[in-house]
Amino acid sequence: MNNKQQYIDRLDRLVAQLPENADGALVTSQVCRFYLSGYNADTGYLLVTRGGCVFVTDARYIEAASAALEGVCRAVCYTRGKFGEIMRGLCDGMGAKSLLIETGSVTLAEADRFAKAFEPVTILRSSHLDDIVSAMRLSKTEFEAEQIRAAQRLTERSLNRILKMIKEGVSEREIALELEFDMRRSGAERVAFDLIVAAGPNGSMPHAVPSDYRVKPGDFITFDIGSVVNGYHSDMTRTVAFGKVSDEQIKVYNTVLTAQKAAIDYIVGGGLNCAEADRIARDIITDAGYGECFGHGLGHGVGVEIHEAPTLSFISKENMCEGCVVTVEPGIYLEGRFGVRIEDMLYITKDSAIDLTEMDSGLIVID
Ligand code: ZN
Ligand code: ZN
Repeated sequence: MNNKQQYIDRLDRLVAQLPENADGALVTSQVCRFYLSGYNADTGYLLVTRGGCVFVTDARYIEAASAALEGVCRAVCYTRGKFGEIMRGLCDGMGAKSLLIETGSVTLAEADRFAKAFEPVTILRSSHLDDIVSAMRLSKTEFEAEQIRAAQRLTERSLNRILKMIKEGVSEREIALELEFDMRRSGAERVAFDLIVAAGPNGSMPHAVPSDYRVKPGDFITFDIGSVVNGYHSDMTRTVAFGKVSDEQIKVYNTVLTAQKAAIDYIVGGGLNCAEADRIARDIITDAGYGECFGHGLGHGVGVEIHEAPTLSFISKENMCEGCVVTVEPGIYLEGRFGVRIEDMLYITKDSAIDLTEMDSGLIVID
């Protein structure tokens, strides 16, 4: 399944973009280790230098790391108390005298620890490494898009199954648990984030935590859900009606849907400006009188992390590019009453975009 060459290419591209003052990079975050090497583990150090590449881990992981990294880079085991010695030896062997670290994820204590352990190798505290890898991650390959699509299909199938099981009196917490169970049983490595199931008045909180609130007729229920397949995330939101809802609820729903469709049309039509996509959706919501009730950005990139570049918001200076996977998720939230959010994921192609979300976005009514 894993194309080893793509990881070799990524490591080469990282080395090619190192600034002059850096001989290499010490990659410590799980997502970037995984993105660059294809090996997904909660611990380990990926040392990428102009003179070679090595993955350093301890005895608990060395067997799995060696197998997973075969054909990409070698794996080396360190024993307790020997971390600095091993690292200095490896740097010396590869001719690395200075290393970038991920300043966005390394703590101050870790940076100090690395500085001591690697001495005389210099640890460079600049944002270069984060910037290089973030830019690389922006554009997804077909292989990556397929993983995201698979995660999305799995999520949609689970949601369709769970929607059929919802009855009056069932709690948000119970629905969220059933969904997670169904997704895991269907092959998800895990859920992509704490699933959001927000019914009735809780729907006005964009990131509500599932509670003991029990659904009743007239409620909107917002599902913001996703799963992880082969390390890649999916993200979708659907707001469904439980029983008969009010004319105002329908008006708000249709406003969000119109805004979402307009932003999607812009992107499918080749529009790549993140701020413009947000503005198109926001203008529709504002014109309908709900401008104050859409307090978050339009969307975000999705990949090895649930939220990654680019950011689709009115203050964004970024552009989307071919290969980006982005969400389009406008919402209207009426405090203490109800809320609506509709979220699709788009894969940007050469002159257009593919909607990776197949589930219909028209209002679904559960009786
Ligand atoms: Zn979402
Ligand atoms: Zn999202």
